[in-house]
Amino acid sequence: MKIDSARYVITLDPRRRIVQDGSLLIENGRISRIDKAAELASARADRVIDGRHLVVTPGFFNGHMHISYAHPVRGIFPDELGSPLNHVFNLQAAMTEEEEYHASLLGIVELLKNGTVCFVDPGSTKFPDACLQAYTDAGIRVMMGECVIDGTSALTLPRYPAAEAIGRTAAFVEKWHGRLEGRLRAWAMPFSAESCSAELLRGLKRVADEHGTSLTLHHNSGPQARKDYQARHGLRPTEYLESIGVVGPNVLLAHVLGVDEAEIECLARTATAVTMCPVTAAKGGRGVHEHGKMPELLARGVKIALGCDSPNNSNHLDIVRVMNMAALQYKDARQDMRQIPAETALEMATLLGAQALGVGDELGSLEPGKKADLVLFDTARPEWQALFNPINNLVYNADGRSVHTVIVDGRVVVDAYRQSFVDEARLFARVQEIGERLQARTGITFPRSRWPIV
Ligand SMILES: [Zn+2]
Repeated sequence: MKIDSARYVITLDPRRRIVQDGSLLIENGRISRIDKAAELASARADRVIDGRHLVVTPGFFNGHMHISYAHPVRGIFPDELGSPLNHVFNLQAAMTEEEEYHASLLGIVELLKNGTVCFVDPGSTKFPDACLQAYTDAGIRVMMGECVIDGTSALTLPRYPAAEAIGRTAAFVEKWHGRLEGRLRAWAMPFSAESCSAELLRGLKRVADEHGTSLTLHHNSGPQARKDYQARHGLRPTEYLESIGVVGPNVLLAHVLGVDEAEIECLARTATAVTMCPVTAAKGGRGVHEHGKMPELLARGVKIALGCDSPNNSNHLDIVRVMNMAALQYKDARQDMRQIPAETALEMATLLGAQALGVGDELGSLEPGKKADLVLFDTARPEWQALFNPINNLVYNADGRSVHTVIVDGRVVVDAYRQSFVDEARLFARVQEIGERLQARTGITFPRSRWPIV
């Protein structure tokens, strides 16, 4: 395949080259050449995509995205409810296999059509066998696992004795890791350090190490958490993880709000990776001005992926909008326009994100030899005018709606705005129905608006 004469190819290569009027060749699922269009003019291909109105970027990574329950009930929680977490896990526990399959399929459609080629589902999927069909058909990459805890939690989470949870995770990894020609990776997925014993966390880290895979868990700090951990363990939350060995390049901590200097130092020293969810933090009123440490983490070289959490947290699965929030949020929080430049936001969504997820050697940038995961943005739209700085336009002007074509492993999965693995009208109707059923069955329902729907 050849992308011919693209307006710009944003490579994320070591020099961060942006090739104007660039062409890109794909052979056997990998990028074989990138150069000026004139240099590749004689290169022939089975399929040529005319790139004259397109901006090409690497595919996007979403480092924390609960895919299972939320699409059928997206938007039901009123703002005045405050945190909906309790309801969230009750709804998730009530999902049937067929419901989860359709919810996941819709999640994948939304992810792909907004340019995400790879995401981490932090253990939400209850029926991986049923959902495998959705992943197979769609061609997306996914990191999956079984969410486990062995301690107490106010949330409805799957609880097992530590030894059983470790055994289940090992079996899950052995069954799933590397399937879909390597597009599916299986990870260990304890929910959080608060809900899991040290024995369980250590055991799951060992499973991840032994199988050459990763572990992810929810992780926050802040003054109250530091006080609690100090009383219980004599350590800060992040130092506690280090003390039990649950840090390192194959550990991905989610959210990571409220960490202090010593904790940032600990993350940097141990090369522990992080996913931050800027839209979730903003919508959840998490006080990024006080607790957000993205600039400090980046300055210390911590690998940060962006995430959008569940579709009832960010509500959308558009990493372009997440990049935008990351870039804006810290400018406002620090009252300093130099914070998180557009280029940095794009790095987190691509190369840094891939590195955080442990796949940076194969993915995350456009370079010969790397797997061909690409997003082609359509600049023939008002929000892309005028076009002089493609990265500023992408992060500040555009959103996922200008994603024109998406390629994963050299295979076109979104082609000129269309996917061909599912009938969208039927799927949307099915998911709406599931949402009605799920609310009726669980009794979890709210006034649909503060305004009368007549
Ligand atoms: Zn989460």
